[in-house]
Amino acid sequence: MKAGHPNTTAPNPFYRCAGPNCGLLKGASDRWWLIWTSFGDFNQPVLYLCPWDEEIAQKEGTLHVCGELCAQKLQSQFMGNVRESQVKRAGG
Ligand SMILES: [Zn+2]
Repeated sequence: MKAGHPNTTAPNPFYRCAGPNCGLLKGASDRWWLIWTSFGDFNQPVLYLCPWDEEIAQKEGTLHVCGELCAQKLQSQFMGNVRESQVKRAGG
């Protein structure tokens, strides 16, 4: 049976791990992490990592990560991308 509140957003959207070659689906009790990047106040690409927070998880651009290993892979990817763009900028 469905009860009221048609205007609230779905309480249990499906989250999939953003880790390379992972794609795990998040269960209700899994302790996941969140990663996102921003230029913030520093005019430099900054990588953010924080424990799961439902509000942050729903923000655009947030990556959902199942665990330490996938977080490390994404960090590595991020660092690679930054290096690559630095090389491009320097090389002209
Ligand atoms: Zn994963």
